[in-house]
Amino acid sequence: MAYEHMTELFINGKRQGSSSGEIRNVLHPADAHLVATFHEAGASDTVAAIDAARHAFDSGHWGSFTGEQRGKILERVADILERDKELFAKAESEDTAKRLVEAQYDIADVISVFKYFSTLAPQNHDREVDPGRQNVRSTMTSEPIGVIAMITPWNYPLLQASWKMAPAIAAGCTFVIKPSELTPSTTSMMMDVFSEAGLPTGVANLVLGSGAVAGGPMSTHPGVDMVSFTGSLATGKRLMINAAETVKRVALELGGKNPNIIFADADLDAAIDNALTAVFLHSGQVCSAGARLLVERKIHEQVVTEIARRADLIRLGGATDPDAETGSLISAAHRDKVERYVADALSEGAILRAGGMRPEGAQFENGFFYRPTVLDNCTTEMHCVQDESFGPILTVEVFDTEDEAIKLGNDTIFGLAGAVWTSDSDKAQRVARQLRHGTIWINDYHPYVAQAEWGGFKQSGNGRELGEAGLAEYLEHKHIWQNLAPAPSQWFVPTKGKVDV
Ligand code: NAP
Repeated sequence: MAYEHMTELFINGKRQGSSSGEIRNVLHPADAHLVATFHEAGASDTVAAIDAARHAFDSGHWGSFTGEQRGKILERVADILERDKELFAKAESEDTAKRLVEAQYDIADVISVFKYFSTLAPQNHDREVDPGRQNVRSTMTSEPIGVIAMITPWNYPLLQASWKMAPAIAAGCTFVIKPSELTPSTTSMMMDVFSEAGLPTGVANLVLGSGAVAGGPMSTHPGVDMVSFTGSLATGKRLMINAAETVKRVALELGGKNPNIIFADADLDAAIDNALTAVFLHSGQVCSAGARLLVERKIHEQVVTEIARRADLIRLGGATDPDAETGSLISAAHRDKVERYVADALSEGAILRAGGMRPEGAQFENGFFYRPTVLDNCTTEMHCVQDESFGPILTVEVFDTEDEAIKLGNDTIFGLAGAVWTSDSDKAQRVARQLRHGTIWINDYHPYVAQAEWGGFKQSGNGRELGEAGLAEYLEHKHIWQNLAPAPSQWFVPTKGKVDV
């Protein structure tokens, strides 16, 4: 399949341009060449997409599909993605500037997500409840929530979208999705995959364009039942406020400032190596990046010296440069933000141990590159410790005791992920259980599986993606009470003692 219409919107089963005729150029972040020109939806296009999703949900055809049938569609989606995975990886890599091999891993993960939810779709979630009396059948049943507005970010475009689209289809919902204006390609290509897999018309709809304009009706329109959002804390708060007007369900996957805690008794080779991957993978543009190193005082100098040395050796480059270990930032605006963040940290008292600048060389001139950066001498009250940079920036703090490590690890508004490095298994478990984050790795960093829930404590969001709870997000729960021996309740008894019929 050539995916030749991927630059257009997809509404009610048809590719179409935007009603205003507006377009947007998507640039490759590594050298700013034009990737493609996309149609730019206005609010009226988004309303048309919501109407299509509403009609597909309410009209009954999609609603008549069994869980087995929805599961089969998801299986076919996984098969088509397997067939076209190289096309998808190339498109993802061009939009995001991540190395092709990383994009290939991402698409493999996307396929696993569709496979996993294909197995959950046929499961019957009905549950008989003991009503505590005779002649009553009391059943808890689940139904799809309805029309979902999905809004996704640019760092893992299709992966984040798959965490929403796969369970929504498994549950029997319909949806409108808006990917980031910077990385629309693979989410758009999915619309062709869904059609080929046999998803009925109107179940999946796509609008392309900016959050402010195309995204506007997604959190306000009364035809939307739920907003499922992955992105920044600021946008998440705005959407939650908007959604309150019509009491929509809101699922939020927001930012993190994730502690990576190294105790002196850890395997330091492994801890140091993984500390680099934790923070510098995809140039730090990872919500769960281990951007906050907490290191026991007695090994601080040894650990930071080695991390800084290795950070200086990390090779930057374009997505297909076989020598490159990581790529550029997503945009000029984002790099500006990262540069301001570092400048502010230095003015607050952080000490620069590595990076802190753009790389030199003609090959970097047109792209949005920034060197892996290590900021030492940080303390919990500094902005650079409290705020997410979403760039290749590691802040370093020291601690003396286990209790202090836990206290520091919990001392931001975020609660997405974190890690503990120690050879003492009991200590690792004690610390892991007291950290207020949605995922904790012990002696590891970054792995996740589709079967395990993902999400944030505190202001890192609400709700969960993946796992069984990731499906439950898209289900309403209904109690059906059936009286098998109906009789007058006699609560209101007429004065003459006989019921008037
Ligand atoms: P963002 O600026 O909040 O944008 C996310 C999405 O929201 C984009 O599609 C954006 O559209 C859209 N948007 C912006 N304003 C909107 C509005 N008023 N109404 C509707 N949609 C709106 O976030 P980002 O910079 O793309 O992503 C980075 C953030 O995502 C980081 O904070 C990161 O931690 C977080 N993240 C979290 C997870 C997780 O699992 N918790 C995973 C990945 C990323 P346009 O871009 O098209 O304007």
